Amino acid sequence: MNEIPYKIYLTEEEMPNAWYNVRSAMKNKPAPLLNPGTHEPMKAEELAPVFCEELIKQELDNDTAFIPIPQEILDFYKMYRPSPLVRAYCLEKALDTPAHIYYKFEGNNTSGSHKLNSAIAQAYYAKMQGLKGVTTETGAGQWGTALSMACSYFGLDCKVYMVKVSYEQKPFRREVMRVYGADVTPSPSMTTKIGQKILAEHPGTTGSLGCAISEAVEVATSTPGYRYVLGSVLNQVLLHQSIIGLETEAALKKYDIVPDIIIGCAGGGSNLGGLISPFMRDKIEGKLDTRIIAVEPASCPSFTRGVYAYDFCDTGMVCPLAKMYTLGSDFIPSANHAGGLRYHGMSSILSQLYDDGLMEAVAVEQTSVFEAAEKFARVEGILPAPESSHAIKVAIDEAMKCKETGEAKNIVFGLTGTGYFDLVAYEKFHNGEMTDYIPTDDELAVFRAKLPVIG
Ligand SMILES: *Cc1c(COP(=O)(O)O)cnc(C)c1O
Repeated sequence: MNEIPYKIYLTEEEMPNAWYNVRSAMKNKPAPLLNPGTHEPMKAEELAPVFCEELIKQELDNDTAFIPIPQEILDFYKMYRPSPLVRAYCLEKALDTPAHIYYKFEGNNTSGSHKLNSAIAQAYYAKMQGLKGVTTETGAGQWGTALSMACSYFGLDCKVYMVKVSYEQKPFRREVMRVYGADVTPSPSMTTKIGQKILAEHPGTTGSLGCAISEAVEVATSTPGYRYVLGSVLNQVLLHQSIIGLETEAALKKYDIVPDIIIGCAGGGSNLGGLISPFMRDKIEGKLDTRIIAVEPASCPSFTRGVYAYDFCDTGMVCPLAKMYTLGSDFIPSANHAGGLRYHGMSSILSQLYDDGLMEAVAVEQTSVFEAAEKFARVEGILPAPESSHAIKVAIDEAMKCKETGEAKNIVFGLTGTGYFDLVAYEKFHNGEMTDYIPTDDELAVFRAKLPVIG
């Protein structure tokens, strides 16, 4: 067999031209979204005031395996895809491990993460529907940045509700969004009814994702020609992110590499869901026995310490109910610098796969994540995002286990983005000021008690 190159790229002909819908292979389908009033499954017409039509079809489609990627999206993907699958030779050497480590690097675009893969798709369908603009929320700002780029490409207005603490602490991300023409409002704000209510009840609040979602949905449903878009959790987002997994599958096949372990960080589950999609199909069909590991922060442990139940997606309880591994919609994690991993719930698809025992999950502490990030940066060159570094941490742990057993396992992990806007977090780490707060069982029970009761 040929020596495996440092980076495995695909030619234009080898690039996927359809997304893969992992729900089509699942024996137990993910639970449907429920109407928060009636607790009946949401119908397409009920979702239509909130979401774009074509995206609703994708959201509700549990059966179609491959969904063709429209040419305009393929053209946009060509600007920054394929993303490289890198053989981490330098990391392997530094760890002195017999394991073969690969990472799929999604940070090679201006938004700095995988989120652009779905942002461009969602902006495209909004444009095709003849809409004027879209609204969304952003926490740390990666999704807002990706969506701003996508909207400016298709000439759509983009209104972003940014969690207030990030708006104030991450002025550079905010300015990147404004370069791409987005209108960025700190949340909670006085521009919405729900924002006014939250501010009246909690005057000093620095905001949360759940609250920003409520504001963005309110603006979308009350402004003609607008819809709401979301950067993770939803089935449609995992569908778009399958481009990551399909490219990885094609690249590995070129060199007859079979992955033994696939690792990804999990916030709402979109990058991991996308990365594993084709491999999960093979696993369900009994053709592959790859271990799949989701990595989450110990401060926000939805999979490892949450419950599998219907819950609200937002603080204002205006969104449909989703069945997922959740900590409760009021749960606000302690200061953790991986902003993209702070959501209280998890994709319904991944939640079902986890419940079915088809994947594993581990929670890791923040300082150990930054130690792994730095180890990686020093040998592989890339400055990783704190979110992505959760996957690095577990990839290194698994590679060290291989060192003990002498096994040359193939470990593949998702390197979702770069950390240039996270240097305050790195500064805290370097100054020894980083804390690892892990919620107690009693604290988690308080939020669990507030889960909606579904009859
Ligand atoms: C948003 C984000 C994540 C987490 O989101 P998922 O939907 O779980 O993939 C991970 N890494 C980066 C760099 C992000 O921006």
